[in-house]
Amino acid sequence: MSELDPLDLLDLDDELTDEERDIRDVVRRFAADRVAPNVAEWFEEGTFPGREMAKELGALDILGMHLDGYGCAGASAVSYGVACRELEAVDSGIRSFTSVQGSLAMFPIRTYGSEEQREEWLPRLARGEAIGCFGLTEPDSGSDPGEMRTSARRDGDDWVLNGTKMWITNGGIADVAVIWAKTEDGVSGFVVPTDTPGFEARDIHRKLSLRASITSELVLEDCRLPSGAILPEARGLKATLSCLNEARFGIVWGSVGAARSCLESALEYAKTRVQFGKPIGGFQLTQRKLADMAVELNKAMLLALRLGRLKDEGRLAPQQVSMGKLNNVREALAIAREARTILGASGISAEYPVMRHMANLESVLTYEGTSEIHTLIIGEALTGMRAFT
Ligand SMILES: Cc1cc2nc3c(=O)[nH]c(=O)nc-3n(C[C@H](O)[C@H](O)[C@H](O)COP(=O)(O)OP(=O)(O)OC[C@H]3O[C@@H](n4cnc5c(N)ncnc54)[C@H](O)[C@@H]3O)c2cc1C
Repeated sequence: MSELDPLDLLDLDDELTDEERDIRDVVRRFAADRVAPNVAEWFEEGTFPGREMAKELGALDILGMHLDGYGCAGASAVSYGVACRELEAVDSGIRSFTSVQGSLAMFPIRTYGSEEQREEWLPRLARGEAIGCFGLTEPDSGSDPGEMRTSARRDGDDWVLNGTKMWITNGGIADVAVIWAKTEDGVSGFVVPTDTPGFEARDIHRKLSLRASITSELVLEDCRLPSGAILPEARGLKATLSCLNEARFGIVWGSVGAARSCLESALEYAKTRVQFGKPIGGFQLTQRKLADMAVELNKAMLLALRLGRLKDEGRLAPQQVSMGKLNNVREALAIAREARTILGASGISAEYPVMRHMANLESVLTYEGTSEIHTLIIGEALTGMRAFT
């Protein structure tokens, strides 16, 4: 039997196609060369060089890679998942950037946009020459977006938007925002160039999680847009939620990357750190931790792969994505916490990625539907009874 890979005990990457493995290698190399050497510093400083990273990710065809046409790569869902995994193995911030750009800005424009909107924005977003964001959450509406207050009213042919969006990834560096607002006919999406008068982004500081990521508040004050700014095919919150589902799929895979990185650090440390005359990895209690982490990592990867294959077959249900998001982020966070204990005091240092992953995963647990909301979605799928309205 060939030697087992401790980070892939079930040899699950063997299930990937050659193309998917090629994408894995390209993204892993990019993440190792361009992100890993700098990310601890970005995290400590609370910055993210979005413009630079966007162009580099664009050059690798990663942005909106699972979409077709308009300069998008048209890769498989599994390829997109693998890219998310490799990016988040370095930091959830760069995966969040990529998810927001591809799944939350490009996906709604591709799926619900007019021909003009697609042609204007998609090729630039795919190349990383423009950056997108997605404004749904508000100060008073998070898990319950139906309660949003942002409004869009007709004024002649124009639309006039008013409201505040909160916790918006990429907000302060975006060229275009997909903004969800209430119209007379229900919730609609709007493609808003961020240089429109009445649009302002204010970055949110003092975050203790996802520090290598820009998070902003968006203020819309009599923000006037032409009639063509509305996403013509996006009707109601169903369209909004379909975008979230795309991004959640990326998280199912990304969280596996963060967990893998934590296991890798813990393993290396356990093999070299000597206490009581032997490496701590030789103690049964440490081995139990490592074994549990490896088992959960492989289960999470299996889940991601299954969801990816279902998505590529066009039969992935949102409730299945909820299962993946709930399990994989929860287990990644548990792995990060356990890995932290193995590293002892070193575990709290930015010299190692573990505590950074742990802090990041707290955001990942909350955004794109909290664990509680995904639990309730699964509960509804099981019982037919909706517990959260
Ligand atoms: C770093 C970061 C980046 C983000 N990026 C974006 C972005 O790009 N775009 C965007 O629109 N949003 C973004 N968000 C916002 C994110 O989607 C919301 O934080 C999330 O939806 C939860 O909303 P909330 O924080 O208002 O919590 P709330 O909805 O107020 O929930 C608070 C708590 O109550 C629980 N709860 C709520 N309802 C129920 C219920 N029915 N039963 C049981 N428990 C319940 C929740 O699970 C949670 O534990 C981001 C958030 C973070 C932290």
